[in-house]
Amino acid sequence: MLRPYRFERELDRSVAQWLAWLPRWEPGSLRRRSEVCTVCPRYADELGFDDLPHGPLHALVTSVESLLIEQFLRNAAARFPELERDGEWKVWLERGVVRVTATDGRDVDDFLDQFDPMGTVSIQATGTVTAVHAAQARVELVRLYYSLFNSAVSRLHGQRTVVLRAVGAYIEPKVQRMADELVAEVCGAA
Ligand SMILES: [Zn+2]
Repeated sequence: MLRPYRFERELDRSVAQWLAWLPRWEPGSLRRRSEVCTVCPRYADELGFDDLPHGPLHALVTSVESLLIEQFLRNAAARFPELERDGEWKVWLERGVVRVTATDGRDVDDFLDQFDPMGTVSIQATGTVTAVHAAQARVELVRLYYSLFNSAVSRLHGQRTVVLRAVGAYIEPKVQRMADELVAEVCGAA
């Protein structure tokens, strides 16, 4: 049995580290157009952090995301040790999507042919863990991932006030100052 509170403690620690780092953040990257991020929007939507500049948000979200991945893989290995035991299947996450792939990189779904009219599924077994078993495991792993994602989000939500207060104190003045400088630069004022 995995200790459920370990994840929450780790989340709290990572928020605390982020809060400690926040005063040192400088909006140096604001001028550059940031690439479209595949991690932050999922969290920003859930937490209502859409107004945060991407730099600090990204720092928080990626540390939370890496804890989530770690926790997910730990749980997945504990729940389905047979999947990866012989190296036949690999369980991993790709941008918040649970993947179960065979050694040749093919997705588990590729092994499952469409339902035939007789109502049976034609299966290609790969060694000791069948594709059907792996596919069933994935259904449960998807559930596990969402439950972990939801607990991460709700843990962060509990600290929302602290986070927003810190952003108001350390981030907003710097963003404002930078915006003022840009205006002065563009308008030739100052
Ligand atoms: Zn990001």
